[in-house]
Amino acid sequence: MHDTINRRNFLSKSLGAAAGIALSGNLAKASSKNKLPDPGKFPVKVIASRNGFEATRLAYEKITSGEDTLDAVIAGVNLVENDPNDHSVGLGGLPNEDGVVELDSSVMHGPTHRAGAVAALQNIKNPSKVAQLVLKYTDHVLIVGQGALRFAKAYGFEEENLLTDDARKIWLKWKHTHSDRDDWLSPPPFKEDPFGEEFFGRITGTIHCAALNANGDMSCTTTTSGLSFKIPGRVGDSPIIGAGLYVDNDIGSCGSTGRGEANLQNLCCFAAVELMRNGMDPKDAGLEVLRRVANKTSESHLLRDDGKPNFGLSFYLLSKDGRHAGVTMWGPSQFSVTDEKGTRHEDSAYLYKRSE
Ligand code: ASP
Repeated sequence: MHDTINRRNFLSKSLGAAAGIALSGNLAKASSKNKLPDPGKFPVKVIASRNGFEATRLAYEKITSGEDTLDAVIAGVNLVENDPNDHSVGLGGLPNEDGVVELDSSVMHGPTHRAGAVAALQNIKNPSKVAQLVLKYTDHVLIVGQGALRFAKAYGFEEENLLTDDARKIWLKWKHTHSDRDDWLSPPPFKEDPFGEEFFGRITGTIHCAALNANGDMSCTTTTSGLSFKIPGRVGDSPIIGAGLYVDNDIGSCGSTGRGEANLQNLCCFAAVELMRNGMDPKDAGLEVLRRVANKTSESHLLRDDGKPNFGLSFYLLSKDGRHAGVTMWGPSQFSVTDEKGTRHEDSAYLYKRSE
């Protein structure tokens, strides 16, 4: 929908929008506060990235049977962390360039405004659970690497090899094919190669899940194996509060998947919730943040010939009054929702249309 907007227009539109927000903020806030339902009457809703279809269903069931929103979304994403066939999260996640799976995750609990996160965690398939322990039992927000592993083991988590056979083969294929300036020969040595072109590029993926309960309380979590074949120790946006996710229990939540570096440079989820605080609809807030990212991207290796970003970035937004949206840099694309109407995929709004 915004594909014909050039960079100069981007800038003036963004600035114009920002000015509008500044003027209308307090009014919008006041009016949306007046419209909020009574406690017990908020529309229960769970949203997630596309791979979180079952996660939203499970989290919704748990919330409607009285579980805390954070426990519910974590139980939801655990389904995906435990799934060896999802190569973007937990067990079966794609490894770093050394063939080691390193996981990032964060959680945030709206009612207490507390957060917990782990980064570059090895050998533990449920980093979201470890992140919740950081939130619950420490005075810290983020624990990384070997410290995160020792912390998880202290709570009884068992180490396991997270590199499945399929993930190892995909990694090996990447080693054989990503450069002709090393000693790895092409084609790969394994005969039956089930991994087609889709595994040629850098694979990204993650799950984000956010929930609103009937009392208007909100929580969210993001969990990932991060950018495939990353430099060991690289940490993306997922465990960074304000980037991989953010929730303000009075306003709403936002979570992210896609190119973490672009998100980190713009602190997108915090920005999106602030735009919602000032009266923007979830969809407009998400698209505005995507426009900022596009506008701030200047490195030539991240731009197409026509000046548009060549990477994917998506946000999932939920407002306290129950409005929701998925937005993405390159559509079409979908996200997952469960509410009183059932569990479904919905189309995300997008800045640019793929195939352009
Ligand atoms: N955002 C994740 C990261 O950059 C990856 C992804 O969502 O694809 O680590």
